[in-house]
Amino acid sequence: MDPADEPRDGVPIVLTASAIEMSDFYLNPFIAFTGGFPSKIIPKKFLRKHWYPLTKDNGDGTAAFAPYGLRKIEALLEQEFGKSNVVTCAPPNIHKFVGPNTKVIGISTMDPLGMGFVSRTYTSLVGFGGEPMAAAEFRELINNPILRKYGSKIIVGGSGAWQIIRGRMQDAYRTDVVMIGEGDRTAPAVFRKALEGEPLPKVIQTEKPKIEEIPLITRPSLFGVVEITRGCGRGCQFCSPTMRTRNSFPLDRIKKEAELNARAGSRMIVLQTDDLFLYKCKERFIPNREAIVELIETVGKIPGVEYLQPAHAALAPVVYDPKIVEEIAPILVEKGRWNLNGKRVTSIEIGIETGSIRLIEKYMKGKMLPYEPKDWPEIVVQAIGIFNDNDIYPLATLVIGLPSETMEDTLATMELIDDLKGAKIFYVPLFFTSEEECLLSNVRQADLRHLTDLYWDFFATCWRHNIKLWAPEKQGIITASSMLLYMLYYRWKHGAKVLQPMIKLIGFPRI
Ligand code: SF4
Repeated sequence: MDPADEPRDGVPIVLTASAIEMSDFYLNPFIAFTGGFPSKIIPKKFLRKHWYPLTKDNGDGTAAFAPYGLRKIEALLEQEFGKSNVVTCAPPNIHKFVGPNTKVIGISTMDPLGMGFVSRTYTSLVGFGGEPMAAAEFRELINNPILRKYGSKIIVGGSGAWQIIRGRMQDAYRTDVVMIGEGDRTAPAVFRKALEGEPLPKVIQTEKPKIEEIPLITRPSLFGVVEITRGCGRGCQFCSPTMRTRNSFPLDRIKKEAELNARAGSRMIVLQTDDLFLYKCKERFIPNREAIVELIETVGKIPGVEYLQPAHAALAPVVYDPKIVEEIAPILVEKGRWNLNGKRVTSIEIGIETGSIRLIEKYMKGKMLPYEPKDWPEIVVQAIGIFNDNDIYPLATLVIGLPSETMEDTLATMELIDDLKGAKIFYVPLFFTSEEECLLSNVRQADLRHLTDLYWDFFATCWRHNIKLWAPEKQGIITASSMLLYMLYYRWKHGAKVLQPMIKLIGFPRI
């Protein structure tokens, strides 16, 4: 062992996350979705090197960049216990900081068991590749013997922590505390008790913080993430952000965090939000054009910001006030991360979810406010048209298998996709997943067993569109290789019926 790597006395609080969550995927936040893909198809060693390389360290083993949520906890703990008592590092450097003085190891996770929307959908669809990469990496971290060598308490939090409870993995993973919910108000007291060796419950549901309790990060975040809003309030029943209190953060705070990231060398700023148009919005979700334009202009001017990427957007505000898109698009495109046919474009994640007015009314009737549920398909088509006219090509999630979904509902979604023919969009079809912190948390989830021929058709239609639009020159190779694997497995597992959607995806005449 290099003498510099010899264990020292240890830092009292060590914070970390799995190797995949400590990567910026070459500064591509959308590729980070592939953490939900199966882990056994390509060797982990290769993926770590070429797909999700670790964030660099500061030369002393501390992480140069870390997940935003972990940075928030780090800032709170530094305030509470002093900077010298807290350190954040990536898994390969944990041994440099854990020693006899280490009392608590805090682990942040988004998808520890691969039970999130993307993981459940794509691991089961690809089928033979084992657990999702995110779950494999978390298991490797939590089973690292150094975590328990000196009797440190293990506290796990983050947006995916609920999976450990749902998957009954507390004992297998030997966690001392699993914290569910936002940590800003509750984490300092929990860490204090752990430091002082006081007993703690195995699961803690945190209290909602007031906006003034949420600290500024003090060190840079991966992807240059900066939170602009928290919570949503539109009330979609499968969604966890809607359970949080809605807040917009003041522009000077946002600017400070963005500047901190840019100064540290982050070429990208991701504006974290569940909907860009919620930023300082008015009653009934009426968007605040002045505030949004000022936000984008301010962050766009920060020196060193090469890419500026808002995380999510709702569709109804685009139709309500198209001028917002027209005013912010030139900046977002100039600072766009993607190219299509040699042209610089930008993207944003949107939720279409379904084309069924019945399901919209039943599970998401706030989604299109200030419009009515019956307007949803028209809003989707119009909003995507406005985005496309301004060189914004969205990444759109669609959810199938919502409780009580009928063939008519699925057909309505397929009709909507048909209405969007020619639109520049990347579809991400997903199985309905009942996450813990949502109104449908106890409802049966969709999975492969519920995949009808129509669902297969639906998946095939979405992916065929994606391949045609985004990789036309590679279409043959991508399609042929992925289909070969796909067909071999599913022909064996589900019988001949699976050939129909595959043939449709490949584009041969239907048989
Ligand atoms: S609009 Fe989006 S963020 Fe808001 S509740 Fe619905 S799914 Fe969640």
